[in-house]
Amino acid sequence: MSDPTRPTGPKIIAVVNQKGGVGKTTTTINLAAALVGESKRVLIVDLDPQGNASTGLGIDPSQRTRTTYDLLLDEAPLSDVVHSTETVGLWIAPATTDLSSADIEMVSNEKRSFLLHDALRQTDIDAYNLDYILIDCPPSLSLLTVNAMVAAHSVLVPLQSEFYALEGLSQLMLTVRELRQTANPDLRIEGVVLTMYDGRNNLSQQVENDAREYLGELVFNTVIPRNVRVSEAPSFAMPVQDYDPNSRGAIAYKELAQEMLTRAA
Ligand code: ADP
Ligand code: MG
Repeated sequence: MSDPTRPTGPKIIAVVNQKGGVGKTTTTINLAAALVGESKRVLIVDLDPQGNASTGLGIDPSQRTRTTYDLLLDEAPLSDVVHSTETVGLWIAPATTDLSSADIEMVSNEKRSFLLHDALRQTDIDAYNLDYILIDCPPSLSLLTVNAMVAAHSVLVPLQSEFYALEGLSQLMLTVRELRQTANPDLRIEGVVLTMYDGRNNLSQQVENDAREYLGELVFNTVIPRNVRVSEAPSFAMPVQDYDPNSRGAIAYKELAQEMLTRAA
């Protein structure tokens, strides 16, 4: 284990928000890459049937023969599913649209909420010597997302700096509280990160003020600015850190990684 303070395996973080387009996938990829920049070894688990994280890291659909679907429903070994990426120290378990039927297929399984939990605790994961696993969730509080939150040690919530941003957050927090009382008593909130922030925009500032007022210390000091380099990077199949390391987006995700590591220390 590369981190002797955590002998029980990698820290697992679910990136969750039931709204689409708030920056979950972008945060998963770029925070993961920024953690790699801090000498951490990171696996991304793509749990969204849209497979955006897989595409954004250059895993062509034709290469996705075994996916997170197989991990959940076919007891596939992790090593059969995991791909390395162009970024050394960053791996991904990809998803395809197959995953969209997983919710229905899992319902009849008595371990339905624990399938990802168990899959990520297979012993063949040790070979990767991971420090972190980031789970990119679909835009819902479905059974897939519940699997992510049961598997995880903590939940990271990207909050888009737009009107209605805080709506829906109470539902998400309620789900976290329910899971604490049932399947995952130790589930923590890693933090809430403001994404696509535009400091010149009053609305962004208002969302930030509200978030800090209601959520206090849960909100990371680091905010992720709206930055065109961040939105361009996936079409070049790389994290923004590799695409343009000096961009504001890359610097912000580096700061977020550092803030997260400092908080955890
Ligand atoms: P989600 O996974 O929550 O659906 P995404 O991460 O896919 O959201 O982001 C939604 C869209 O916003 C994408 O087109 C993405 O490129 C863009 N985006 C996300 N974060 C930023 C940012 N900081 N600056 C500019 N565009 C961003
Ligand atoms: Mg996404």
